[in-house]
Amino acid sequence: MNEGDIAAKEADAHLSATINNHRSTKYALPVMGNCHNCYEPIAKPKLFCDDDCCIDFEKRKRMNIGKSL
Ligand SMILES: [Zn+2]
Repeated sequence: MNEGDIAAKEADAHLSATINNHRSTKYALPVMGNCHNCYEPIAKPKLFCDDDCCIDFEKRKRMNIGKSL
């Protein structure tokens, strides 16, 4: 195993940690009565109308973080 392999492995570990944390990340967001991804009004105090919106939001957030670096 060379240094590049080790770096790739660490990046993978970081990514899966981010995915595993996504439920706790959700609860750090304010409840605004609308989906945080598509802005559809949602009756219950949820952050996203469904899991797809949650995943899309997390993906976009990761992309934005990548751009700012
Ligand atoms: Zn939505």
